[in-house]
Amino acid sequence: MTFDQLGLSEELLKAVSSAGYSEPTPIQAQAIPSVLSMRDVTGIAQTGTGKTAAFVLPMIDRLAHGRSRARMPRSLILEPTRELASQVAENFEKYGVNHKLNMALLIGGVSFGDQDRLLMQGVDVLIATPGRLIDQFERGKLLLTGVEMLCIDEADRMLDMGFIPDIEKICKMLPPRRQTLLFSATMPPEISKLASQFQTDPKRIEASRPAQTADTITQYKVELSMNDHKARRTAMRRVIESRDVKNGIVFCNRKSEVDIVAKSLSKHGHDAAPIHGDLPQAYRTQTLEKFRNGELKLLVASDVAARGLDIPDVGHVFNYSPPPNSDDYVHRIGRTGRAGRSGESFTLVCPEDGKLWDAVLKRVQKDVETFMPEGLEDELKALGPSSSSRSSKSSSRGKEKSSSRGKERPENSSNREKSRKSDRGGNDFDLLPPAPAGPVVGLGDHVPAFLQRPV
Ligand code: ADP
Ligand code: MG
Repeated sequence: MTFDQLGLSEELLKAVSSAGYSEPTPIQAQAIPSVLSMRDVTGIAQTGTGKTAAFVLPMIDRLAHGRSRARMPRSLILEPTRELASQVAENFEKYGVNHKLNMALLIGGVSFGDQDRLLMQGVDVLIATPGRLIDQFERGKLLLTGVEMLCIDEADRMLDMGFIPDIEKICKMLPPRRQTLLFSATMPPEISKLASQFQTDPKRIEASRPAQTADTITQYKVELSMNDHKARRTAMRRVIESRDVKNGIVFCNRKSEVDIVAKSLSKHGHDAAPIHGDLPQAYRTQTLEKFRNGELKLLVASDVAARGLDIPDVGHVFNYSPPPNSDDYVHRIGRTGRAGRSGESFTLVCPEDGKLWDAVLKRVQKDVETFMPEGLEDELKALGPSSSSRSSKSSSRGKEKSSSRGKERPENSSNREKSRKSDRGGNDFDLLPPAPAGPVVGLGDHVPAFLQRPV
């Protein structure tokens, strides 16, 4: 299959070939003709399979004729994060070089002034995050009655981030006669519902089984005997040092962990920088740029910040712990092993992570080998009995509780609440498992020092 069999215009084909693409990916091959024929499309394909061009290319051709009017964009693309929105904008610039389409980006962290001027001039394509779009709409800066095409991209991540109500609201502000595209790596029931609510007889395209891990990735787990952050950080470093890492992403479940792990890696001489939703936009853009250019070796990231980022050729993915949601595991390791290249992933797993890890195994349906860098076991033992005895004590107390309540209780719920609050901000949710209901039995996980003193 070649691009010129898809019905795209000559101008676009030129732009595609100067972008260096020789053939369309499966999702592109299937989606492009349907979008060109003005059908609604639901496209499901795993991360890194080229979904962006699957809608950007036909959109450019669809919008090539016709003119925009002030404050009335002709098409709207919704993205869950500013980074993804910027990437889609870059795609429009790249493929749209031979077209005269006006584009505006409505994302948080960027000043309203320029965007407003662009909107005033009239734009063909508006790329926005849901919150910012609703803001602008409610300020009366925007009219959505001219939107002929809507694309809801990365729909499953929108769901994770709690954007579905916003999207429903936006869909209701748009004219009912329009073309609606929806792209996602996975298709949870909430997204199917969204599709059936706002699409008309959509063509459903599944380019591969949704969100499976590629065969080009070798997955490993690193077993830790204790749930201790120092042990985790040490293990993480040793794993990284044991491989020939050109570039890699270290994933953490919380923003606070992202900061700590990035700092710790840097302190130990690794070239690492953090990226998550609480960091200033300029810093995030700069960090990402460095990582793309190969000037930064390790990107330490939260799931949301890294989601769908266009970072070609990552050799290694490291999970500081298994993610709370097994879909995220698939997304994380989908950052490597792209386009037939080989990659490796490593996940630190301690006994307390058992449940999450089981969910991952069930999801990937693959054997995951155990890996232990040389000398790490001894080093962890030598880390000090304090850390290991403290955590083994708390884990055995955890077990007592779980047997008495018939439910596992990995963390003191009030501590969890605290860390959840301090972690949350912007729109970068940290995906903690829901706190178990009910009061803490006994003292919870906090044991006052005087009780631990030997009698
Ligand atoms: P997704 O949205 O499915 O996660 P992206 O659209 O971000 O994936 O694309 C992932 C990567 O694949 C990008 O680096 C993009 O430039 C590249 N890519 C897209 N289409 C092609 C193609 N036809 N041939 C080669 N590379 C492509
Ligand atoms: Mg995408």
